[in-house]
This record gives sequence, C-alpha cells and structure tokens, in this order.
Amino acid sequence: MEKLYIGSHVSFKNQYQLLGSVNEALSYGSNAFMIYTGAPQNTARSPISKEKTMAAYELMKENNIDVNNIVVHAPYIVNLAGSGSNYDFAIRFLKEEIKRVEELGLKKLVLHPGSHVKLTREEGINNIINALNIILEKDSKVDILLETMAGKGSEIGITFQELKQIIDGVKYNEHIKICLDTCHINDAGYLVEKIDDVLKEFDEIIGIKKIECIHVNDSINDIGAKKDRHANFGEGTIGFDNLIKVIYHPLLKDVPKILETPYVTATDDSKEKVHPPYKFEIEMIKAKTYNPNLIEDIRNYYK
Ligand code: ZN
Ligand code: FE
Ligand code: FE
Repeated sequence: MEKLYIGSHVSFKNQYQLLGSVNEALSYGSNAFMIYTGAPQNTARSPISKEKTMAAYELMKENNIDVNNIVVHAPYIVNLAGSGSNYDFAIRFLKEEIKRVEELGLKKLVLHPGSHVKLTREEGINNIINALNIILEKDSKVDILLETMAGKGSEIGITFQELKQIIDGVKYNEHIKICLDTCHINDAGYLVEKIDDVLKEFDEIIGIKKIECIHVNDSINDIGAKKDRHANFGEGTIGFDNLIKVIYHPLLKDVPKILETPYVTATDDSKEKVHPPYKFEIEMIKAKTYNPNLIEDIRNYYK
C-alpha cells in the first residue's frame, strides 16, 4: 500500500478537546488532522485537560494515528510582522500557545508569518525574525511551521526567498519548518501543475526536508491573483489531477496532507446549513478518482 497521510482541519471544542478532534478526523477517514486550540479567528483559549488528552491518545493508538501527522494552526490574527501592543501580544500569545501544543503532546505549530501593514516589507520581516528569536528556545519541543502565503494585502512569506530570509535570521532555526499551501502558492504565482519544478526551486532555496505539512486546497482564483480563496478539492483552478500529483509526490510521501477546503452550503427546510466536505474529498483522494458529483453527494449525505 502506498503511504498516505491525509486529513483535514477539524474542530477542537472545549467539551472533549483533542478527543473530539480525533473522533471527527476518524469520521472522515483521516489518519492526519489539524486543529486550532480554540476559535481560528480569536485568541480566547481554555486550559488543556490531561484526561481528555490521554483519552485522545488511546484512540489515536487504536487507529494508528501518529502525533507527527497532527498539526496545530495558530489563530489568523496573530501578526508577528506588526508593531506596537499588537506585536507584543502576538509574541506573548505564541509563547503560551507553544505551551498548549506541548501539553497536547504535539510537535508542529503552523503560523502565517505576518502582514507588514503600515511598515515596510523589510521592517515586517525583521519584526518576524526578532519575534521568533524571542519565542524559540534551543531545546524547544515544538517546531514552528511558517506557511507559504498567497500575497493578500501585505502578507509576508509569498516567495520561497522571503521564507528563507526569515529562516536565516532565526538563531535556533532547526525549529523552523515550512507548511506548503497549494492554494496559496498558486495565488502567489507558482504553477502547481509543474510541481516538480516548484519543488526543485524550493529545494534549492530552502531544502525540501523543511516541508513538514501540506495544505492541499484548490483555489478559486487564477495563478498569481494574490487572493487566497480556497476551493473544494478538484473544483478550482488548480484541478484534481494537479493536486493528486502533489499528494502522491514521492518527495512528499512522509508529509501529512491537510484539507482546508470550504464547507458546502445547502438549504434544508429553507434554512442555510453548511456541511464538511472532507469525508468525500478524502474518498476521492484515496481512490485517485475525481467525483463530478462531489458537492451534490455532500449535500445528500448530510441531509
Ligand atoms: Zn494557514
Ligand atoms: Fe493554509
Ligand atoms: Fe488560505
């Protein structure tokens, strides 16, 4: 059997915490997954429960889910490229977040490098480097995975060179890794269709071994659009075959692949509802066969 670590973003609700996340991941047929330790949009966080974590690990063991295939994503609003009190808060929050990730027994924290907003690009990059030097310690148990960004607004990390510049500035950069997002690199101008060339370029600039997570999203927008709008798997401008090539790429076989594709809307009893697409997208990925009725199948299943 071909090696495949596939999963999606799943919820982490305080009632069950990681145990709930594992159960949700299993319900989609996943052997990998990604969580936010609270709401993705805010930084309110609850303490980690040891009991729930231990129960989660029991379930993971029964189902052969390896901790290396579980990633945590930092909230969107944490901006290490900013300035003033927001900047100080971001640093404090990430230090706390790393402790939470450690308490969960996890090892990978995905982070959007930041947006420079009113500062210059260079100032933004320097702020990120400075912050990471405060946050990361020599014997850190958690690695930070900088995500490749689409280039929306004033985002930093939209070229491999820019990410390399950050890595080079960080003292303990053995703890800095990369999360490659297929939608984001498309929107930033990289041709996913030519993934061999993209990976070759990545390897020359950063080193392929640094890729520790892949967000396998399709994109609503054309290459280079600098937009960042995810599409369901095979339903966007990147397309099914190109995404499958990334997922089954021999150089990426050990790397967990995470779906951050949008929930599907449906109108049931004249109410708008949203349904997770992941079970059906994962089925397509495992079968390597495009399902032209993906959206309809999801709506019918959750009816
Ligand atoms: Zn992200
Ligand atoms: Fe992403
Ligand atoms: Fe995105």
